[in-house]
Amino acid sequence: MNVFQRRESEVRSYIRSFPVLFEKGRGAQLFDREGRSYLDFFAGAGALNYGHNPEPMKQALIRYLETDGVTHSLDMATEAKRRFLALFEEIILKPRGLDYKVQFTGPTGANGVEAALKLARRVKQRRNVVAFTNAYHGLSLGALAATANEHYRHEAWVQRQDVSFVPYDGYLGPDVDTAAVLRKLLDDGSSGVDLPAAVILETVQAEGGVNVASHRWLQEVARICRERDVLLIVDDIQVGCGRTGTFFSFERAGFTPDIVVLSKSISGYGLPMSLVLIRPDIDQWQPGEHTGTFRGNNLAFVAAAEALSFWATAEFAETVSARGRRLGASLQDLIGDFPAQLTRVRGVGMIWGLEFKQSAVCQAVAREAFARRLVIETCGSERNVLKFLPPLITDETMLAAGVEIVRESIRQVVE
Ligand code: PMP
Repeated sequence: MNVFQRRESEVRSYIRSFPVLFEKGRGAQLFDREGRSYLDFFAGAGALNYGHNPEPMKQALIRYLETDGVTHSLDMATEAKRRFLALFEEIILKPRGLDYKVQFTGPTGANGVEAALKLARRVKQRRNVVAFTNAYHGLSLGALAATANEHYRHEAWVQRQDVSFVPYDGYLGPDVDTAAVLRKLLDDGSSGVDLPAAVILETVQAEGGVNVASHRWLQEVARICRERDVLLIVDDIQVGCGRTGTFFSFERAGFTPDIVVLSKSISGYGLPMSLVLIRPDIDQWQPGEHTGTFRGNNLAFVAAAEALSFWATAEFAETVSARGRRLGASLQDLIGDFPAQLTRVRGVGMIWGLEFKQSAVCQAVAREAFARRLVIETCGSERNVLKFLPPLITDETMLAAGVEIVRESIRQVVE
């Protein structure tokens, strides 16, 4: 029995799926203690869009530490934070015509979701929130109440208090317009769905099975919110920061949320950071009303500021989109090779889901792929979707190699 088994809580999970002692990471690869390399198509669950130890961020961090840059400062002003905010304004907000205040909310995605939900209730003075089937917003109590899969609440006595779940785009099949269902539920005084303070959604449900909402549906939900004075919160924690091919996942869909939550890859280096973007007129917090010791990690600011330069020109976004399209096409080919096992492929940019008919086969394939040194996770309520989430910087050769490992793994499992 090793020290992990002896001392780490039974709640440990990825260590069970990927039972290797990792020591180093570089680009799209991890290395174990024996120096063996692993292709990483999990990318820290979306926290490593720029790969492991990306050089520009690494050099900036080394310089900052060598010059005794402030590491911890609560929410005081520091040069690292000033630079991040100025570049975020210049590179991300202004060119997109967006006007948001920025609230730093502590290390994890769930911290950001908590703040967003709390602010929405405070501003609208209403309790209810609408979330969607298969949603994942985090596992602290407030965020968990808006997370659909009951597996995460199992035996933890968490109630769905003040959250109403409604069907996501496609949940009732391709022919049912679930935006119309939402409208009906909100307008019908006998539906049991109270007028909410906010609707919270992911434009692509990542943990929920890589479900991609259509632009039309997203625009319709935005209109429903606007017409009823309901705030729209986009949880861009996993699919923001370029994952879908644009910095924000909602950019191409043609609507502007009232509140946006970012985390995971915003620090650009896997460092803990989350923030909430707030339409200026609803930034109604009183000073110190929502506080916390770790609101803005200066090392994360340093790396995050550097990461923003990837977005200063259109080139990086174009590369991500082009590679993503090819990745999607090569997964489509896999369906042709294994029609008895695979049902469909869905995704956008560099997030793709390969759906299996049987969950057990999907999980066996993930295990087999790991034996062949590809780190890849399953998702979806049935865990029957293999989730491709490589770092955005993964080159064509490595993407093709990963898909090839999956092909061999499926063959090994089913033949
Ligand atoms: N929202 C979404 C869409 C996520 O994917 C995640 C993490 N998987 C979270 C919220 C929660 O983030 P964290 O685990 O950092 O609390």
